[in-house]
Amino acid sequence: MTAKDPSFETPLDRDRIRAWLREEDALRLEVLWRAADDARRLHVGDEVHLRGLVEISNHCRRQCAYCGIRAGNRGIERYRMTRDEILACAREAMSLGFGTVVLQAGEDPGLGSEWVADLVRTIKSETSLSITLSLGERTTDELRAWKRAGADRYLLRFETSDPSLFHRIHPSLPNALSDRMAQLRALRDLGYEIGSGVMVGIPGQTWDSLVQDILTFKALDLDMIGVGPFLPHPDTPLGGATEDGGEDQVPATEDVVYRVLALARLVCPEANIPSTTALAAINKKHGRQLGLLRGANVVMPNLTPSTYRFKYAIYPDKACVNETVLVGPSVIAEQIEALGRRVGRGEGGRRRRGPAGNG
Ligand code: SAH
Repeated sequence: MTAKDPSFETPLDRDRIRAWLREEDALRLEVLWRAADDARRLHVGDEVHLRGLVEISNHCRRQCAYCGIRAGNRGIERYRMTRDEILACAREAMSLGFGTVVLQAGEDPGLGSEWVADLVRTIKSETSLSITLSLGERTTDELRAWKRAGADRYLLRFETSDPSLFHRIHPSLPNALSDRMAQLRALRDLGYEIGSGVMVGIPGQTWDSLVQDILTFKALDLDMIGVGPFLPHPDTPLGGATEDGGEDQVPATEDVVYRVLALARLVCPEANIPSTTALAAINKKHGRQLGLLRGANVVMPNLTPSTYRFKYAIYPDKACVNETVLVGPSVIAEQIEALGRRVGRGEGGRRRRGPAGNG
């Protein structure tokens, strides 16, 4: 078995992506894992970048059918971290040697434009961290103000490329059609590095739409690609559902997530691809490491203070996830070294220089 398998010498087209997604032969799949790992090594190297994740608010104005912090969920206590609490987390990220802090939240209008801009400016003046924002759908004026304040990157998953499924699981706000693709283009034009991605196994998600998701990663030329399994949250409309796409339904299994990760690496070889917490949640023992062996090169340790962390319950069992999976950064570093890789130094942004060593 070799990465020089002929099937990787021509670009992956729709048919071949579809075939890989549905490949059942374990030996053939080894070829896919090997090709993804080779592409990862060639294009982004052996460094695994750590991004400190801070979940700054669980207030949300949206009614996403998949998400546990949707506005309609009255069962959770809402919080918004103070500026000082967030700054303390940023300093912790610095002291742990991370290059990036990721500020994520529900779509919270209480995080005002100027307040966020001031926070970004302060973190930039007090630390050498890169700043990634993941605050949902915001106006171009807000995104521009945050970029000017010093934000470097923005994460906004398009969740699925199937427009009708997207609108079913992600209702628009009154009089404002939700258009995440347009926001991603606007972010790119503003000079952000852009990250997006999908959930795997959303009820109603078909294999054809998953193929299209992977082609969309490439069409958007994403700098970062986040992929994880859909995990049903009981207090959401999709909480009881598992599959409703019939024969064509994509299952929410770790197996399919690894295939999507590997294919994402092959279609976007330079992208930063995290081995996600949701993946570590479905395979507590090996999920994170298998992700890193099948295309991923980033891990996002959670730095949210524990009092808030449990309340940022986008999917269930986050408490359990936090105890067993969100091990401390030193354990994550050991896991990375056990794979023969090393913890990345510096900001770990997108490299656009072609294969490592070629310029
Ligand atoms: N409000 C921000 C951040 C949302 S949380 C936004 O909408 O962009 C980040 C990601 O978690 C989401 O984009 C979604 O892909 C994922 N997520 C949310 N609920 C989930 C669930 N039940 N199972 C798996 N992933 C989920």
